[in-house]
Amino acid sequence: MTYTTLAIEDFGAVRRISHNRPEARNAESKELLDELHRAFTEAADDDNVRVIILGGKGDHFSAGHDLKQAQRERGNFTVEERWDFEVKRYLEYSLHILHTPKPVIAQVQGACIAAGFMVANMCDIIIASEDAFFSDPVAHSLGAAAVEVLVHPWVLGQRKAREMLFTGGKFTAAEAKDIGMVNHVVPRADLEDRTMEMAQKIALASPFALRLLKRSLNRTLDMQGFGTAIAAHFDTHQLSHVATAFQSISDGGLENAILKEKKASGV
Ligand code: ZN
Repeated sequence: MTYTTLAIEDFGAVRRISHNRPEARNAESKELLDELHRAFTEAADDDNVRVIILGGKGDHFSAGHDLKQAQRERGNFTVEERWDFEVKRYLEYSLHILHTPKPVIAQVQGACIAAGFMVANMCDIIIASEDAFFSDPVAHSLGAAAVEVLVHPWVLGQRKAREMLFTGGKFTAAEAKDIGMVNHVVPRADLEDRTMEMAQKIALASPFALRLLKRSLNRTLDMQGFGTAIAAHFDTHQLSHVATAFQSISDGGLENAILKEKKASGV
């Protein structure tokens, strides 16, 4: 199986899956999301793979969905078409990463914005470099109710999640670690090595024990209402797509929204 938007590398029992569109700040296009889903399915099915790293080649983890493609190919989508597209590629694909029966570590540098934030937070552990920054500015830039998977309060706590979402601001890797969203912050030059070190350490444990443990941890989230809250927000998010604010930004061209987002995120 070949990939055009991802880089797949094996290091013993560890598979590293990297966004590989550095020229587009690793924007997640339709093709990239389909490949990511396939790569996680293959890694889950391959007994030689015990731990997965999700990263990004170049200066950034991912700046979010590919809005240029969205404008070009899906600008005229009906409510039903958008719902079908987003329930599959944004909601189900994201939850598929969370439910991958092997530990997944996100390796994050540079921009980790909107959909990038959503995907990174589907991973079990996050290791970030000092230059990493996080935001979900879409209430400001697109007039949408956050991204599709509202993982934010679960990983940030309510106060920080509200501040981040309401202001559209970004926060640093050091702040993310203080909050507990990020496990470790390391120098950029050490990011790959430190992430690999942890992955190899995890890979020494029994794959079956890890699989069961991850099921229990995911069930703990669900007992707290995670699955229901995520499903409810997805439907709410769809409503924001047909609201006046989103429609007028869409009609004005997502290009302007992209520029605004770039300005806000500083990249
Ligand atoms: Zn959406």
